[in-house]
Amino acid sequence: MALGTSSTMPRTLPGQRSIPEVLAGEGTSYSFEFFPPKDDAGEAALWTAIRRLEQVRPTFVSVTYGAGGTTRDRTVRVTERIAQETTLTPMAHLTCVGASVTELRQVIGQYAGAGVRNVLALRGDPPDGPGAPWRAHPEGLDHADALVALVRSLGSFTVGVAAFPDRHPESPSLDHDAEVLVRKADAGAEFAVSQFVFDVASYVRLRDRVAARGRDLPIIPGLMPVTSFKQVRRMAELAGTPLPEAVVRRLEPVADDPTALRAVGVEIATELSRDLLAEGAPGLHFYTMNRSTATLEVHANLAS
Ligand code: FAD
Repeated sequence: MALGTSSTMPRTLPGQRSIPEVLAGEGTSYSFEFFPPKDDAGEAALWTAIRRLEQVRPTFVSVTYGAGGTTRDRTVRVTERIAQETTLTPMAHLTCVGASVTELRQVIGQYAGAGVRNVLALRGDPPDGPGAPWRAHPEGLDHADALVALVRSLGSFTVGVAAFPDRHPESPSLDHDAEVLVRKADAGAEFAVSQFVFDVASYVRLRDRVAARGRDLPIIPGLMPVTSFKQVRRMAELAGTPLPEAVVRRLEPVADDPTALRAVGVEIATELSRDLLAEGAPGLHFYTMNRSTATLEVHANLAS
């Protein structure tokens, strides 16, 4: 059954192209990811970043959904404000963690009511933390493919999904990861956004495995311009993304010099971006950490 608000909702605003249309077209799609801030200072920093990044006219910006659904209200509020007060196209993340299907329908209804037409449908990390066994809510959904189908059934949403070029930590094989993306595409996902990559070959390998299975699912590679060595090491460990030796060799010597580290981080992200685009990536998705400077520097390097 379609939600009242979303069933009649157009997929895009008048004159605007949908995310899959942009990805299929000429040129590079840029997108930026944010997380909902915890306090007023964080909120101010986020809005400074949003306003600065707005200038380069990204295809979309996305807002994450906290572990266990903890940021539900803040995610909805920030996404809604982006939809209403900026020229940006928002994409809201949504996870299955700790939620019944009824609760998921309610959040999807809130997104529809806020004018959000793009949803990144995710399972989410296990409620006891990454590495713990996955436990679905007894009246909830077990995997992202089921959430894709639910969102699609509730209105004219454009749905994206997550992809893992370096293998999802719980996945037995790269082939299984490709099969999972095929299931998500068959459930109605129209594009995927990848975990941040530091190895172009792993992105190409996953993309080719999905293509070999006959699915034309655009996969946007994720990029993280490094601004803190400690942070990227921790995030890479949590995500199961290995940091290549060559990357560590460049970052480690400048780890305690924030200015030099940021410069090297931007240099690495620029090189990766160029190589990914040369391999035919349809766009670039930046994990901004709610900051704009490093991402804008990479963007400027690519434009020059
Ligand atoms: P799934 O596709 O369900 O995969 C989870 C595991 O189950 C994988 O090992 C997969 O191989 C396996 N699997 C999948 N489908 C099946 C099936 N039908 N049968 C058997 N096995 C299956 N987390 C958050 O909490 N909030 C966010 O906002 C958020 N944003 C993210 C954005 C991006 C771009 C990415 C890449 C990740 C994001 N994550 C976020 C993290 C993500 O939720 C976790 O990595 C999670 O563990 C996997 O989510 P998924 O959607 O890929 O799940």
